[in-house]
Amino acid sequence: MDRIGSFGESTYRIEDMQLFRGTQDPQIAKLLAPCPILRVAAGAQVPESGRGRLIVVLKGALAVAADTRTGFTDGTVSKVLPGESVGEQSVLDESADLIAITALDNAELLMIPSDTVWRLIDESNGVARNLLRLLSFRIHAANAQMRRRQKVGEFYRQMSLVDGLTSLYNRAWLNDKLPSLVAQAQEQGTDLSIIMVDLDHFKRFNDTHGHLGGDQALRAAAKAISGALRPSDFAVRYGGEEMLVILPETNENLALMVAARLCERVRQAVVFPDMRVAMPQITGSFGLACLARGQDEQALIEAADAALYRAKEGGRNRVSQ
Ligand code: GH3
Ligand code: MG
Ligand code: MG
Repeated sequence: MDRIGSFGESTYRIEDMQLFRGTQDPQIAKLLAPCPILRVAAGAQVPESGRGRLIVVLKGALAVAADTRTGFTDGTVSKVLPGESVGEQSVLDESADLIAITALDNAELLMIPSDTVWRLIDESNGVARNLLRLLSFRIHAANAQMRRRQKVGEFYRQMSLVDGLTSLYNRAWLNDKLPSLVAQAQEQGTDLSIIMVDLDHFKRFNDTHGHLGGDQALRAAAKAISGALRPSDFAVRYGGEEMLVILPETNENLALMVAARLCERVRQAVVFPDMRVAMPQITGSFGLACLARGQDEQALIEAADAALYRAKEGGRNRVSQ
């Protein structure tokens, strides 16, 4: 990194720098004249300064990495192009620069010391205005980035509660949600029904159509079930080819009708849309249980399991209570 002269000796123009755009004060040229211009080779790092200083890129480009010492870094690197600047904030809040700055091309940089920046602000309303505008822009950009990260976080949170094969809720979701649904129904004295579903002879289906064919059948069954529910109901992949349907505010009669509808929809599900393949049928057995007074979620699931067992015993492809 070499000092190649001062701004006053160079041919760079003040109006090409964002910070001074639209300003006409003659004081600006005077204050900038002694500021040094440094040349930094591509790949070289711009050394930190203990005191803040503002760097304007005159030529080339800089890569600015977020603060690596405060833990706020996430690998975000922004590119600073000719006319743009970096380091305003460290000047304004008098903090040391904690950002890593590297030259991308052979760069020429105007270094404006902290006290000169303050004098520029004192002398020129235009500079103050540009600086405010620049900082406001940065705040907007930082907020947008934060929102994006929150969205990504939300996406992964959702992913961890949804089963990858069937897109139904998974066991983690059930463990989190069912106790509160049961507690709510008990407190408010409302109905709550659940239906445990197990696909029939699924080992055989796998043997005949292969495991991938089995996966496709499972997806088709899950789609048939979730597509036949109200928005207030929930469908969960309970285990291998077992699913659990939760019907809040649903009494026994209504739940029986829903279960019969689900049984029918699974039977009619199209597993392989390709017409050249002979259409295999899948069926399921459905065990229904309704929340009784004082019952907890464990006992409710056991009741649905027992009903499912009866449906299997009764010949499969049916609903039992
Ligand atoms: P039934 O329930 O009617 O008594 O007979 P079944 O053959 O379905 O017996 P069971 O429920 O005990 O076996 C479930 C089979 O489902 C075993 C396993 O190979 C298969 N299975 C479980 N999860 C998956 C999956 O994600 N993909 C596929 N392809 N098969 C699965
Ligand atoms: Mg099973
Ligand atoms: Mg089964």
